[in-house]
Amino acid sequence: MGNKRVSKLRKVLQEQGLDAMLITSGYNRRYLSGFTGSSGYVLVTGDDSYLLTDFRYMTQASEEVTGLKVVQHEAKFIDTVRELLPKGGQARVGFEQDDVTFSAYTAYAEALQPAVMVPLSKTVENLRMFKDEEELAVMQRAADLADATFSHILNVIKPGMTERDVDLEMEFYMRTHGATSSSFDTIVASGERSAMPHGVASSKIIGNNEFVTFDFGALLDGYCSDVTRTIALGSPDPKLKEIYDVVLEAQLHALAHIKPGMTGRECDALARDIITRYGYGEYFGHSTGHGLGMEVHEWPRLSKLADEVLQPGMVVTVEPGIYLAGLGGVRIEDDIVITDSGIALLTHSSKDYTVL
Ligand code: ZN
Ligand code: ZN
Repeated sequence: MGNKRVSKLRKVLQEQGLDAMLITSGYNRRYLSGFTGSSGYVLVTGDDSYLLTDFRYMTQASEEVTGLKVVQHEAKFIDTVRELLPKGGQARVGFEQDDVTFSAYTAYAEALQPAVMVPLSKTVENLRMFKDEEELAVMQRAADLADATFSHILNVIKPGMTERDVDLEMEFYMRTHGATSSSFDTIVASGERSAMPHGVASSKIIGNNEFVTFDFGALLDGYCSDVTRTIALGSPDPKLKEIYDVVLEAQLHALAHIKPGMTGRECDALARDIITRYGYGEYFGHSTGHGLGMEVHEWPRLSKLADEVLQPGMVVTVEPGIYLAGLGGVRIEDDIVITDSGIALLTHSSKDYTVL
């Protein structure tokens, strides 16, 4: 596994005239090496690749890492990097400018002289946009677990419970069914709180005649799912059912038309235009979706500003919403993979208007 990903990265480095790249980001380290420990670095050169870690992780690293040499680094890891650089140290070394602080950069640049450090952005992240078969299989399991969690919570939720009770029940279900954790702080937003797109579960008691929005996902074997469903308890304000239908129409329209070759902006417009046509454009204040993988927000983005072109193998969310302050809100979110001809859904929870 490590080998293939490292080879792809090496090709990118060669195209950019670089002799090596130092990877400091934890997600990218895991992606390239398979190492799940919390401390380490990856160094890729023209001929070799290394996972550098400290004494505590040597056993774990040698078990997990494939295709890279596992090296125990010195007290200052950067001294080990210098020793491993090609060209007697006269190398151009890429580093992750979005991950390295200025003070760390200053220390590395001094320690690696005469090598020159070259800032890179999204280099490994661009590889991570394209999920391979193995990753898609894990992501399908993470999505399946989210679907199962939603079915479970529909059997449990009732007026009188707090949002936090519901959150805990969902967390417990996910973790007892294979998840490492939830992929992010679960949103359980009921009543007027459902108008808050990021209403993390609170101590609010869920009342009758309210909408409840659940936005949640499972982190499973290093990959995230991210699903949103909105349901009704009792008989809420009819206006809420009206916006439910609009959001559902927008989401289904986007799912029916997204295909490879479209830009993120075009995908965003598929959902946004419908919501705008019904007069709710100003109440849909976030983007239509985002890439999903090891992290819950990855590239590409489906937004008004996104130029990236969707290509087969990318996994993104589609999640339009409408939020009416003082009344409530609706969001519906699925995870999809871009295929050669269109999309395949990873999440399958029912989107029929559900009243409990
Ligand atoms: Zn979500
Ligand atoms: Zn999302």
